[in-house]
Amino acid sequence: MATFEDIKSIIIKNNPEAEVAVLQRAYDFATQAHAGQKRLDGSDYVQHAIETAYTLAQMNLDLDTITAGLLHDVPEDTAVTLDEIKKEFGAEVAKLVRGITKLGKLKYRGLERYAENLRKMFVAMAEDVRVILIKLADRLHNLQTLDALPPVKQQRIARETLEIYAPIANRLGIGELKGKLEDLAFKYVYPEEYAWVVKNAKARLDEQLAYVNTIIEKMKDLLKQNNIQLIHIHGRVKHYYSLYRKLLRKDMDLNKVYDLVAIRLVVPDVSACYHMLGLIHAQWKPLPGRIKDYIAQPKPNGYRSLHTTVFGDDGRIVEIQIRDKAMHEHAEYGIAAHWHYKEGNKKSFQLPPEQLKWITELLEWQKEIKDNEQYLSALKIDTFQNRIFVFTPKGDVIDLPENATPVDFAYYIHSDIGNKCSGARVNEKIVTLDTKLASGDLVEIIIDKNRAGPTEDWLEFVKTNMAKSHIKSYVKKKHGRLLGIFSRKKEG
Ligand code: MN
Repeated sequence: MATFEDIKSIIIKNNPEAEVAVLQRAYDFATQAHAGQKRLDGSDYVQHAIETAYTLAQMNLDLDTITAGLLHDVPEDTAVTLDEIKKEFGAEVAKLVRGITKLGKLKYRGLERYAENLRKMFVAMAEDVRVILIKLADRLHNLQTLDALPPVKQQRIARETLEIYAPIANRLGIGELKGKLEDLAFKYVYPEEYAWVVKNAKARLDEQLAYVNTIIEKMKDLLKQNNIQLIHIHGRVKHYYSLYRKLLRKDMDLNKVYDLVAIRLVVPDVSACYHMLGLIHAQWKPLPGRIKDYIAQPKPNGYRSLHTTVFGDDGRIVEIQIRDKAMHEHAEYGIAAHWHYKEGNKKSFQLPPEQLKWITELLEWQKEIKDNEQYLSALKIDTFQNRIFVFTPKGDVIDLPENATPVDFAYYIHSDIGNKCSGARVNEKIVTLDTKLASGDLVEIIIDKNRAGPTEDWLEFVKTNMAKSHIKSYVKKKHGRLLGIFSRKKEG
């Protein structure tokens, strides 16, 4: 259980000059507003506000966001209005609290209501991403106290976390929070599988950790001998849910998972990252095909690092991740790192456009889809299904849902390229347009300028909603034209 003092000390540690007086006022305000209210687990309601704000403080977010975290349930659950919050804490805090309040408590009254809530959430997210960060922190604590709820609700909340909230955290690049949300929900959604993973991985994990520590000691020597400053090194244990997902693809065989415990090394700068990669490969042989340079080719969510998997001493396999401090911050906090306190830097809350691209795209097509069932399934596929990363001939990274085809790729680049697409090369080989792409593929679209447009049968294999809606609208227009010609003929 976190206390208000815990929140203050994290903030002061990250930012010694922070003016925490406002936070004290928000804490008193929330305590008074929620006085007498209890949560289902019997705790004082204000404890929920504290835990939410604590998570936001751990993410090193700005004071307005943490203050809004303390106040996030006040207008919804008490007599206090948003106007009073604005008067007490200013427009910025009130805006954030309003954003959360507008989302409402998810009431789960059927599909209709659920889809409506999600639509609202993405609108709020486009206006200010911090609203979603508060929502994610709120959800984390609700999961931590899920035992107090009836089983039907547990199921719904946990399932929704795996389907929607964790993928949002992932797309925002907040790796740490995503892992926590998933592990908490995993237990409720797949209790037997969860028990299996915990039981079978435990002994393996301990053994692997001990082994990794011996490698870590040798890496420290390597750093010292080569005068590279060590910022940080540790063995990172894989989260249970992501381990489970991986095991599903590896015949449930723990021996085939090389990153059960990965070594995470943080060094001062990019050149030190590459220097260490070379030194590591000179000492331990890398596994072919497993060196990933996410510094030169960042993941679409902004993640950067060097990954390699090596045969360690006595041939045991271990994954190593190398990054600098900024990359590390981004890997842990993702988009939240954008609001980290920086001295003398008057922060703007506008995000770089490329990081918001998927949100604005999502808003575009959610306007088009009126049917809620269709909306939900498109949302799950386009936005939240497992993503693959493919490359353009220029080396840009494009992320697409699993099983996407060259046609999906073409429409992602531009609707004209989709419409005129007549063939594709994947890794320099000609393939059919319905070929399923895989992560790492280099994709090139062959264009036929004389091509009239897409054909209806493409709808049978395309995956993304973007491709589907372009094809459908073209087909519809064409039918319209044909009908037009037909009726003119009749008249003539
Ligand atoms: Mn709440």
